[in-house]
Amino acid sequence: MTLKNTETKHPRSVGTLYIVATPIGNLGDITQRALDTLQQVDKVCAEDTRNTRKLLTHFGIQANLKAIHDHNEQHKTDQLRGWLDRGENIALVSDAGTPLISDPGYHLVSILGGEGYKIVPIPGASAIIVALSVAGLPTDRFTFEGFLPAKTIGRNKALTQNKKENRTQVYYESSHRIIPTISAMLEIFGENRKVVLARELTKMYEQIFRGTLLDLQAWISADPMHQKGEFVLIVEGAPVEENSDAVNCSSDELLVTLLEELPVKQAAGIAAKITGKKKNELYRQAMALKNQP
Ligand code: SAM
Repeated sequence: MTLKNTETKHPRSVGTLYIVATPIGNLGDITQRALDTLQQVDKVCAEDTRNTRKLLTHFGIQANLKAIHDHNEQHKTDQLRGWLDRGENIALVSDAGTPLISDPGYHLVSILGGEGYKIVPIPGASAIIVALSVAGLPTDRFTFEGFLPAKTIGRNKALTQNKKENRTQVYYESSHRIIPTISAMLEIFGENRKVVLARELTKMYEQIFRGTLLDLQAWISADPMHQKGEFVLIVEGAPVEENSDAVNCSSDELLVTLLEELPVKQAAGIAAKITGKKKNELYRQAMALKNQP
């Protein structure tokens, strides 16, 4: 494979930034394109070089590894821009999965993308999609909530805001917060809300638990092993509520009330707006009601 540096607002010599997804556990999930890109770029930028070094060593790739930390976004962006301007091709990886998804990179992609630098995605695993693919909860529409706030007040506020969300909700969670998060969800969403907990996806001890929040609380408390590792929590959306604001009466009842105050034509017009029915039908109905003895 040859790395392409296609359309860009910059001169030909400017390098390309590749956003490279890596496995979320099982190294066999790396793609051929990711391997080729990591092999061929001039620099591989990583959150934690020790972690990425292990990945590269496993695949026999000798790369020029650079640590880029999230604490100085501006400095990191300037550094990367400098390399790209020298014509170097750069790969950005995170510790696992897809960069930018609950991982660093947003600032630099936003800035460099806005400046017209060529940014190429090299797709692969992301725990959200991997978990959704086996959850068995609706996937036609879902929300990705990432990590909940660490503090109790913030977490409960976020969950309360999501209580009536009708779409499937996807949360990331770590081992030290999984139990309090499940308890808070149980309290706020109710014990019967369906949930799927995907633990250690693609790894040796992968487990997928499906049940209600009450079942999940019992399951996770039953065995300390169930509390270890990395988690994706997928919560069923809230049932769609009948619109409590909707007018719940027949068109006859509505017209009778309107006719007490308004002429027939006006009553029919307002009833048509409220019910969505045809104005001339409602006019006939209103006339019949008016002429009743
Ligand atoms: N960028 C990553 C992605 O694309 O999925 C996510 C990085 S985020 C810092 C790490 C979180 O992702 C973990 O705390 C966990 O919630 C989820 N995660 C990552 N790998 C996982 C796995 N193998 N099994 C379950 N959850 C995982």
